[in-house]
Amino acid sequence: SEAALRQAQKMEAVGQLTGGIAHDFNNMLTSIIGALDIVSIRVTDERTAKVVRAATEAAGRAAALTQRLLAFSRRQSLDPRPVDVNALIQSMHMLLTQTLGERIQVQVALATPLARALVDVNQLESALLNLCINARDAMPAGGHLRIATRYAAAMPFPGDGAEAHAGGYVVVEVADDGAGMEPAVKDRAFEPFFTTKPIGQGTGLGLSMIYGFMQQSKGFIDLQSAPGKGTTISLYLPVAPALAEGVALPRDAQAPKGE
Ligand code: ADP
Repeated sequence: SEAALRQAQKMEAVGQLTGGIAHDFNNMLTSIIGALDIVSIRVTDERTAKVVRAATEAAGRAAALTQRLLAFSRRQSLDPRPVDVNALIQSMHMLLTQTLGERIQVQVALATPLARALVDVNQLESALLNLCINARDAMPAGGHLRIATRYAAAMPFPGDGAEAHAGGYVVVEVADDGAGMEPAVKDRAFEPFFTTKPIGQGTGLGLSMIYGFMQQSKGFIDLQSAPGKGTTISLYLPVAPALAEGVALPRDAQAPKGE
């Protein structure tokens, strides 16, 4: 579709741009932070120290953004391996509950047994963290976050840009009952640099990075959202081939025959 093409072109343009400048930026920021460090040691009055601290913080945020841009442009660095997604989610539980804070109740519903997914585990971890941060931002007064896994024999929208994977998919669902998205936001949510958050809080890279990551992983991302109701994002991760025909699939959800 035209939207998908525009999305792909933007991703490409952003990838090239960042590949060219993010690296240099990173070096410059490193020297700025280093210089501020030296200054901070020599500063004696509290007012100047405050200014230096603010500058160091801003430079740190810039460095973090540059890192994300670098990760965005470094598309070849994926290392897909069979991953026990349930175990990954369990290992992230502490991090997630801490990130989400006390006002958000976390519910985890893991399907067992679950096939292994063929995916880069580090990228998946940062994608899940990102989705949870987005959910947190959509529930400023608190709410519920549900993380669930399941097996799906097929993608929900076959032929929607992605190639079907015969072994089926491990699906990770992150659902919140927060603000949800207006249709105009939902349409653009995967665009690089599209954000509704204030400057300094949102980069607009989270969902576009996950979109690109899913594309590269031969997976799929599904977004359901309604204003006032909440948002559910599902990552469809291809089942690891060696296990796709083995015993690791749930019995009522065997891989489709043929292909
Ligand atoms: P960022 O979080 O930096 O804004 P993203 O690409 O992750 O960048 O998200 C883009 C936009 O999509 C957000 O600014 C927000 O408007 C919307 N969004 C993402 N996740 C959610 C969610 N769980 N609930 C409501 N809106 C969301």
